[in-house]
Amino acid sequence: MIKDQNFIKVPEVPGPTKEEIRCLVICKSSVSSEDVVVDVGCGTGGLSVEFAKRAKTVYSIDLNPKAVETTLKNLEKHHMKENVEVIEGDSLDILDKLENFDILVIGGSNGKLPLIIKKGYKKLNKGGRIIVTAILLETSLEAVNTLKDLFLTPDIVNVAISNGQITKRGTLMFARNPITIISAQKEI
Ligand code: SAH
Repeated sequence: MIKDQNFIKVPEVPGPTKEEIRCLVICKSSVSSEDVVVDVGCGTGGLSVEFAKRAKTVYSIDLNPKAVETTLKNLEKHHMKENVEVIEGDSLDILDKLENFDILVIGGSNGKLPLIIKKGYKKLNKGGRIIVTAILLETSLEAVNTLKDLFLTPDIVNVAISNGQITKRGTLMFARNPITIISAQKEI
């Protein structure tokens, strides 16, 4: 797993998804070298770079041109450009143009999460996985309810990471905002 500080970061673009969260997302996705992955809201490219290392192909989508630029820079920095296509646009439009895929990761949706999940689900191969990372309670609930509407059984994990910092007095634990990871598998 790449350290957070090894990603190029710009103030206008969120991310990278923190190292420990990336670990869990990769783990929950059961990604293999055969898989085609779509990263909706690629931001800084934190998840795109990690998936590029493990999957066959990655499509990284973001509506912010700065995010597209930053993701490309991080892919280049980590020598992972070869199997990734970075696309600028609203994922709702871009999903229409893509072939079927195996993993849909959603890290940003701008209020369109149910539509993105429903559209993505149609293009998900049998056995495919959907993973949503949410910082807002509302996003978590939307993800759970949409997956339930699709007759899927969501797996919901809320993680609160604290990182230790060694000081003269001892090790101080710095808390990060909790993240919810909601995932589900398309059985048929
Ligand atoms: N996982 C990323 C961080 C995601 S931040 C990382 O590891 O770096 C969320 C991103 O989602 C933002 O860059 C935002 O521009 C993008 N976004 C929000 N709604 C979107 C949509 N409908 N289509 C495409 N991108 C979207």
